[in-house]
Amino acid sequence: MATIAIVNHERCVGCELCARACGVTHAIQLNLAHNWVEVTEDLCWACGACERMCPFSAIALPPWAEANKELRDKIYAQNRKPKKSRVAAQASVEGAEEEEEVFAGQSQ
Ligand code: SF4
Ligand code: SF4
Repeated sequence: MATIAIVNHERCVGCELCARACGVTHAIQLNLAHNWVEVTEDLCWACGACERMCPFSAIALPPWAEANKELRDKIYAQNRKPKKSRVAAQASVEGAEEEEEVFAGQSQ
């Protein structure tokens, strides 16, 4: 039997964060009838990225599995890239406005 991520259906709430983490092989699908996810054995590379993403510890590689850490960290980093926050965006707009005022003051 291949080593794949295992879903604990009692814990899974079907949020699909793990499916987002599994964006390379697309091994995770939501089962709408049960509102839990399932893993397609042939597509799972046992990277463990889904395990790190799940807030409910509902998906994990079996304890004996050796996770492909290099692949996992690469995928995890891709999915956790910080987006420019609204606060940072607002601060940069305000900074630009202040600069304009300074330049306007200098030209007088
Ligand atoms: S992240 Fe966890 S709770 Fe959410 S769908 Fe995946 S296994 Fe289920
Ligand atoms: S271990 Fe990796 S390939 Fe397998 S289901 Fe999780 S994220 Fe997808």
